[in-house]
Amino acid sequence: MWAVTTVALLLSLQLQHGESVLRDLSVLEATLSQHRDLIRNPEGLPYDVPTSKLWEEYDFVVIGAGTSGSVVTNRLTEVPKWKVLLLEAGREEIKFTDIPVFAAHFQLTDYNWGYRSQRQKDACLAFKDERCAWPRGKGMGGTSIINYMIYTRGHPRDYDGWEEMGNPGWGWKDVYKYFLKSENAHDDLAKSEFHSTGGYLDVSRLPYR
Ligand SMILES: Cc1cc2nc3c(=O)[nH]c(=O)nc-3n(C[C@H](O)[C@H](O)[C@H](O)COP(=O)(O)OP(=O)(O)OC[C@H]3O[C@@H](n4cnc5c(N)ncnc54)[C@H](O)[C@@H]3O)c2cc1C
Repeated sequence: MWAVTTVALLLSLQLQHGESVLRDLSVLEATLSQHRDLIRNPEGLPYDVPTSKLWEEYDFVVIGAGTSGSVVTNRLTEVPKWKVLLLEAGREEIKFTDIPVFAAHFQLTDYNWGYRSQRQKDACLAFKDERCAWPRGKGMGGTSIINYMIYTRGHPRDYDGWEEMGNPGWGWKDVYKYFLKSENAHDDLAKSEFHSTGGYLDVSRLPYR
């Protein structure tokens, strides 16, 4: 099934862009071999367990294995004695959801909740009923499954504004250190004073231009 999806996606890309994506057979080969490995040895993927094997109580229940829920859960499990349950409404991600160029494609699948905005008077005029598509990810990884993976921190003035509105600890001086702590920069970024290495989040320049 995965193999068929793989080929279908590559073919659709080829049709959309008029260039031979299939030329890069190594990508196809690597993807198929990864899928084969997952089928043979699904270690690492969550698996169904009988209710009797679930703990009766948890110290924390995190709802939503999206961008923030996954990080929060990971941080909580750093304290070994804490029992943490992470619940997600959507299904597993697949290898292709890791590829930013497919983001638009996955917004058309059930990896997207499929919300639409309220009817707009002065916007969304090209949409049916003047209601814009409002994508939000549904699955392990949340909206990161259907986003473009652009590394962006936001503007310092925004954080300071939020702090001024009565949210101590959310100013730029407070959050900046966590951007650095979470980051594992590559390329020339690794040497920049504004970036950092050793965190869980890989950040690099686009490898293809
Ligand atoms: C199209 C698009 C492109 C984007 N591109 C970028 C980008 O390039 N770079 C960038 O930095 N940001 C980007 N963003 C923004 C970024 O993806 C989001 O801000 C971020 O992922 C939100 O994280 P979150 O944890 O708040 O929510 P989500 O990641 O959306 O997580 C929420 C999770 O909760 C689950 N959930 C909801 N209700 C329930 C329930 N009742 N029970 C169980 N689970 C539930 C959902 O299924 C989902 O998995 C983009 C956003 C969109 C929509």
